[in-house]
Amino acid sequence: MNSLCRQLNLTHLATQLPDVLETARLEQRSYAAFLTHALQTELTGRLARAQARRLRAARLPFAARLEHFDFRFQPSLSERTIRELASLHFLTTATNVLLLGPPGVGKTHLACGLAQTAMDAGQTALFVTLRELAQQFDAPAPRGGRAAVRRYSPPTLLIIDEVGYTQLSHLQAQALFDLVAARYERRATIFTSNLTFSEWGGLLGDDVLATAMLDRLLHHAEIVAINGRSYRMRQRVPTDAKSAVS
Ligand code: ADP
Ligand code: MG
Repeated sequence: MNSLCRQLNLTHLATQLPDVLETARLEQRSYAAFLTHALQTELTGRLARAQARRLRAARLPFAARLEHFDFRFQPSLSERTIRELASLHFLTTATNVLLLGPPGVGKTHLACGLAQTAMDAGQTALFVTLRELAQQFDAPAPRGGRAAVRRYSPPTLLIIDEVGYTQLSHLQAQALFDLVAARYERRATIFTSNLTFSEWGGLLGDDVLATAMLDRLLHHAEIVAINGRSYRMRQRVPTDAKSAVS
């Protein structure tokens, strides 16, 4: 029976078969109940494997989830906006999300949390920092240039993290434009940045290109500005409080 399962590619059922048979025996299950249990075992295993594969492929920097985000710490951020995004409607409408704010306010956490939610719903996600992306655009063939643009076009959700720390060359800026154009009105992208839009032009080194890119990017976009304290610094005693003590 085990060999039949393997020939039919029922790999999960093959490993669980003794248990499934034992349960059927103990509970005196009907043929139909036994078969349902057997098929369900295979399906559950397949879904779990697909989920694990999607998670590895997404290359998230850390396993942040939205449930672990403390909204009380960040009162400038509307919890409702994030809940609305977590409904994943923005994936259907290919709406971009711009998470803007200073370091440590939770931009990467929220982006990864949304990616996790999307993957829980069976969608594909991919995370990259702008710096890594720029390096990949510059890489030699067959992985660099157009191939890099093509690699980042298909995922349902793409996260481009840390826009603002990397000055792009003309070639890199052009490739980023191509990527934004390829995903425009097809698939959603989340950008995180510590800059305002007006500063993005300087990053691309070309105002005409930057305008054309922002035009597409902002056409269908949700802008989430976070103006709060850094979560990384939350344990630090404010300097004036310290001096008051000493
Ligand atoms: P940013 O990308 O804005 O610089 P991060 O998302 O990397 O900030 O957040 C820094 C660290 O603090 C991460 O480990 C993140 O999980 C955590 N963090 C930030 N904000 C919150 C929050 N409101 N609740 C819980 N953890 C948070
Ligand atoms: Mg970050």
